[in-house]
Amino acid sequence: MTKSLFLLPGDGIGPETMTEVRKLIDWMNQEKGAGFVLDEGLVGGSAHDAHGKAISDDDMAKALGADAVLFGAVGGPKWDDVPYDVRPEAGLLRLRKEMELFANLRPAICYPALAASSSLKQDVVEGLDILIVRELTGGVYFGEPKTITDLGNGQKRAVDTQVYDTYEIERISGVAFELARTRNNKVCSMEKRNVMKTGVLWNEVVSATHKEKYSDVELTHMLADAGGMQLVRWPKQFDVIVTDNLFGDMLSDVAAMLTGSLGMLPSASLGAPDPKSGKRKALYEPVHGSAPDIAGSGKANPIAMIASFAMCLRYSFNMIEEAAAIDAAVASVLEQGLRTGDIMADGCTEVGTGEMGDAILYQLRKSA
Ligand code: NAD
Repeated sequence: MTKSLFLLPGDGIGPETMTEVRKLIDWMNQEKGAGFVLDEGLVGGSAHDAHGKAISDDDMAKALGADAVLFGAVGGPKWDDVPYDVRPEAGLLRLRKEMELFANLRPAICYPALAASSSLKQDVVEGLDILIVRELTGGVYFGEPKTITDLGNGQKRAVDTQVYDTYEIERISGVAFELARTRNNKVCSMEKRNVMKTGVLWNEVVSATHKEKYSDVELTHMLADAGGMQLVRWPKQFDVIVTDNLFGDMLSDVAAMLTGSLGMLPSASLGAPDPKSGKRKALYEPVHGSAPDIAGSGKANPIAMIASFAMCLRYSFNMIEEAAAIDAAVASVLEQGLRTGDIMADGCTEVGTGEMGDAILYQLRKSA
């Protein structure tokens, strides 16, 4: 069975880190008969330079038709002055919108070899493995009205609107419960029901969805501010956290940074399952941006991109063993003391992007 992957390396370090993922894909195709069929397009500044748009209609159609999209990063100073609607980030927003990617998954995993470099105490983060499921297409970032009005008395009034409908909460909590079943079977839902009506509805709908379809999963509720505190106090109490767009934006950054550098953090964005095939549209991308300060220098850490590919294997192709093998290869290379500059520590050996990718592939081959 073929598996179509559409690669959008983008700008800056995006293409450099995507090259390392391609090494893994080529090996899986040649040695393991994985059957990945690759196509590649342009997004962000590179698409702007070629087509005057942040993503062409042709590439958008390919993204919609693929089993999964692997996305590098977009942006950079070269495109700071391009018009707002064709700025590099518009390519990513269009992909999220047209693919209807409503669920954003951000794991926070602490590799044992990096536990000592967390800003928290080692025993608080060692062995950490949590997953934040953030609602991505609703809430206050999209709700209307969204205005700034001049009140005419020297004052202005800004309004953002937090809106959630039942179906949006049902589908995101469904994703969280289903993922919890593949992990430690626990979901903590976070909102602010004490001060927000959307929080009241969120709490109600998550509880009802749980009762109706997922009562085998352990469900707890926490106010989002308390959740933030608990994330830095004792993050290992959590398995899956489900929350709205705004709280998810903040809490996933907090959780992610418990574990080290931006260069280590993968993410997945999923859509609804297709009624016929059951397949979800999906885009996988590192959390980091295009890192213009190190682009072209061979210093980028490819692990976030490689771990995003591992998420793709897990969530789009149900290749759980292969995904685990990549994660284990990354852990092992870190254990051996190899580090890119962003995670460099005393006594370790600094390597470049290509060497890190090669070391991970070597480890993967060894364990195969
Ligand atoms: P950034 O994530 O690109 O970089 C922040 C810092 O982290 C930099 O010092 C960078 O060198 C370092 N860093 C990031 N990824 C790294 C990696 N893999 N290895 C080693 N070091 C790494 O964020 P920024 O500097 O705020 O933004 C740069 C550009 O990226 C901007 O144009 C911004 O709009 C864009 N951006 C894009 C995305 C995306 O494509 N999803 C996300 C964030 C920022």
